[in-house]
This record gives sequence, structure tokens and C-alpha cells, in this order.
Amino acid sequence: MALVPMRQILDEAARGGYGVGAFNVNNMEQIQAIMEAAVETHSPVIIQASRGALQYSKLIYLKKLMEAAVEECPQIPVALHLDHGNGPEACRTAIELGFTSVMMDGSLDETGKVPNSYEQNVSVTRQVVELAHPFGVTVEGELGCLGGIEDGQGAGLSDSEMQEHLTDPVQAEDFVAKTGLDALAVAIGTSHGAYKSGIKDPKTGKILPPKLAMERIHQIHAKMPTCHMVMHGSSSVPQELVEMINKYGGRMPGAFGIPLPEIQDGIKHGVRKINVDTDSRLAMTAAIRKVFTEQPEKFDPRDYLRPAREMMKQVYVARMKTFGQAGHATDYRQMTLADMKEIYAAQA
Ligand SMILES: [Zn+2]
Repeated sequence: MALVPMRQILDEAARGGYGVGAFNVNNMEQIQAIMEAAVETHSPVIIQASRGALQYSKLIYLKKLMEAAVEECPQIPVALHLDHGNGPEACRTAIELGFTSVMMDGSLDETGKVPNSYEQNVSVTRQVVELAHPFGVTVEGELGCLGGIEDGQGAGLSDSEMQEHLTDPVQAEDFVAKTGLDALAVAIGTSHGAYKSGIKDPKTGKILPPKLAMERIHQIHAKMPTCHMVMHGSSSVPQELVEMINKYGGRMPGAFGIPLPEIQDGIKHGVRKINVDTDSRLAMTAAIRKVFTEQPEKFDPRDYLRPAREMMKQVYVARMKTFGQAGHATDYRQMTLADMKEIYAAQA
């Protein structure tokens, strides 16, 4: 079995009316935890690596780990996706490496920090579609800007700046038509990382959830019912994990994520891919801190990486159930990049 094109996973999710978590990975334990969760819940899954992750793990290691994952679990449809490609070259490298999907984030320039013009975004995204589709590889583009910084990605916008950079539904229709992309990342006020909100309840002083412009998703879905949307920065930042980190010597005051009901509302309105990175980082950190604090005599990495992997798996299982992908692993025959290449060729 081989990795499947992400487009098939999204098309099937649309048919079944569910969303699919796209989980970021840097190392073996994360990949194993995702696969264990997918097998347990019988879920198709998207595994993604950012450019930072590829630098950290080295390209070839990640590729071989992914090959091991699909070889061990042939019944699970798995797509391998490049998160926040910053130009055609990064996308080409990922395609050559065997990724079945790439994101061309043309909302920002190559530094990943400065917003591009709309025309620049259309042009570079179209270029990547022309590069990827002949290989059967899926393309995700982004319109509007996300807040926060993730592996150097994100304009680092303030709350009010973020409101100005939300995805415009009218422009979205034009963007999808002009680029021919497969999936559209929308900016609705989410941001990368563990600190998604600076808003405090004036009465209690408690941090409130970030204010999301869910109506943008509703409007885009009404205009383009078949467009697959992607929510970035969609970790929920479970408070029990933050508390556990803080209890065992960590310092993460005010960490707050996206409430799961908001994500489920998005899924009802065309969101098919939900990017989750921070939640597994929190799970891993919480589990390791607990071992270090309670058993300071331990020094075998397996003594803390095994519980870390287990805690990440629990987070993935919970997300797979919430997003609705659980139970759908064998609904369909897995396609290859060659199959998808023919479909794109027939459409062109
Ligand atoms: Zn992102």
C-alpha cells in the first residue's frame, strides 16, 4: 500500500459529511501515536510536516518513517502533506520526496512573515497547481492571513489586524477559480500556537476563547458547496493538559485554543481538513514533565517517551472522534497518485 492523494481523503470526507484531522509531526513517536489512534478508531488520516519539521527530522528520515507507517497499517488511508510551503521550490522538493499533497501558502511572501498581494498569491498558487497536478499531488492554498507564528509561519498579527485579514468570500470564489486548487485554507481569526486569545473577561479576569468569524465559512460554503476548506491553528489546547504542564513545573499561563463546537460547526459547512499541532505538543510535554517530576531517577528515554506517545495517542483518538473521521477508514478503495493524475488530466 502507498500513501493516498489528500484530495481523495477530502472528497470522501465531503461525501460522508465529516472532517479529517491533519496532525503535524517531527518524530517517530508522533507518527506512531497517530497511526495507533487511526487503527484504534478506524480513521483515514492526514499527516503533515512543516518546513521546520523537515529540517529537524531531516527529509529522508521522515519519508522512511511514513513508509513504515503505511506498511504497518495498509488498511488506513494516509496522506502526507507539506504544511506551509513557502514557494514552488519547497513544494517541488516535497513532491520529489513522495508527499501526496502540498500547501502553497501564497498569502505570505517567501519569508513567511510578510503578506503578499492578492495577485501574487493567485500567481504563485496557480504555479504550484500546474507543478503538482501532473503528479497527482493535491494542492492547498491560503487566502487571508492567520495570526501567530508556527515554525516561522504566520504574520504575527494582533487581534485587530487579524480581523482585517479575514478571508473575503467573494475573493475566495475568484481565487479558487483562478488557481484550480483542491483545498482552501481560510482565515477566520484562528492563529497558530497555544496562545490564541489575548481577550480577558473583564469580570472574572479569565482568558476567553478567540472570537472566530464562523460566518465567513458559512458564506464561502454557500457560494462554493464543493470547495474543501481548511482550518489552521485549530488546536483546542485542552486545559487539563495546560494544568498538568503547569503543575509539573511548566509555565504556560493563558494558553487557550479553539473550542471543539466551533470546529464541528465548520465541518457542517465545508471544512474538511483541521490542522492540529499544539495539542500533541502539549500532551507530549505534559507526560514528560510528569515523569521527570515524579520519578527524577529515570534516565532511559523510553521511560518518558512511552507515556508521551500514549498521551498523544489519547489526544488524536479524541480528535478523530470529534471530527467524525472515526469509522471511515475502509469506506473506499484507496487511490494512488497515478489514479489522481488521470482525473486531473481529464479535467484539464
Ligand atoms: Zn498553518
